[in-house]
Amino acid sequence: MSQKKSGTILDPRQGGRELVLSTIRANERMARIDIAEHTNISAATVTSITAEMISAGLIEEVARDPENGEMKRGRPRVDLKIRGDSHLIAGIKISQKQASVAILDFEGNSLGEYEQDLPKSQLTQDEMAAFVLDLVRNATVSNGLKLDDISGIGIGLAGIVDAPKGFVHWSPQLSDRNIALRDALQKKIKKPCFIDNDANLVAMAEQWFGYGRKVRDFIVVTIEHGVGMGIVINGSVYRGTRGCGAEFGHTKVQQEGALCRCGQRGCLEAYLGDYALLREANIAATPADDESSRQQLIALLAEAKSGNKTAQSIFDRAGKMFAMGLANIVNIFDPALIILSGERMQMDFLYADDVIDQMRKLVVQVDTPPPEVRIHNWGDLMWARGAAAYAMEGVSELALEALGTQDS
Ligand SMILES: [Zn+2]
Repeated sequence: MSQKKSGTILDPRQGGRELVLSTIRANERMARIDIAEHTNISAATVTSITAEMISAGLIEEVARDPENGEMKRGRPRVDLKIRGDSHLIAGIKISQKQASVAILDFEGNSLGEYEQDLPKSQLTQDEMAAFVLDLVRNATVSNGLKLDDISGIGIGLAGIVDAPKGFVHWSPQLSDRNIALRDALQKKIKKPCFIDNDANLVAMAEQWFGYGRKVRDFIVVTIEHGVGMGIVINGSVYRGTRGCGAEFGHTKVQQEGALCRCGQRGCLEAYLGDYALLREANIAATPADDESSRQQLIALLAEAKSGNKTAQSIFDRAGKMFAMGLANIVNIFDPALIILSGERMQMDFLYADDVIDQMRKLVVQVDTPPPEVRIHNWGDLMWARGAAAYAMEGVSELALEALGTQDS
């Protein structure tokens, strides 16, 4: 279940409420008896918890479609589902140059999307708070809503984020270091805000809306400028102790190897990152100097595909290093599923069958199949949906805590 975000002492009943709500959410529609069986909470407690949630408007009853003759055995079964209009959530991904917003209802249905450029590449804490306020206001208005309709805001950004504390140690989009960004946002916007590292939010997006639904243990590897990783263990995002998340890109694949942007040598990213590929290409003098790095990479990949052996060797080496890194993940976590997630089509060479085959050869061999590997190309709006999922989890906790104070 979710980590505590508000810092108050947990009411023992609260854990049961959160489990019931997340179980209904994961299964979309579920009868009380099945919730009791699934959660190991007594049927009587499930009945009283769900009655509270219905009266608070968080969930609602729906008649189950008659199937398999169930109607014949007495009264029709009733399922419970999340009430979509109970809360609206805005999820934001802050990228290098722009921000994407997804507005979702409480069931996760999309109500609208919006994009806006960042005023500059690095903002101070106050500038970021003002930008997010303006962004959410514009996103709601452009979708026929108002800021007041929103119950919570989730924000994903690159960097090192201590999500439970809402604290940003460092982000490439912020000129200030070590800031309590969540508090600054809440003070400015006057809505509950939740922030996290973007790789963790991709893991949440996969868990709530993507290939990770109903998978207890899975790993998401994100490939953008760097290589990121989100870990879901036993149904929860694993965020580490220092909030640094999993720095898959800086795991070492070569002793005294290539120099990485982080200053160390032999990191996986020093072989896979776009700068790493171009560094090799520049030695081979393949692309022209006046092209942007993205165009250079596209040109390099085209050369490899058309049979240029030097260009091919650059991608082959990157693929081998990636296979080694993936095999290390499998050997440490033994996940059911690995999702390779990214929007950069030029990184397709990393998803090639022979890369996955190389990974399979490097994992511990047992008489059961290695984990499934799935490829998910998606854009910034899916990351924004992950941010919305995180805010939905937080808003659920606040709503359920409010139920707790009502009883006592
Ligand atoms: Zn590194």
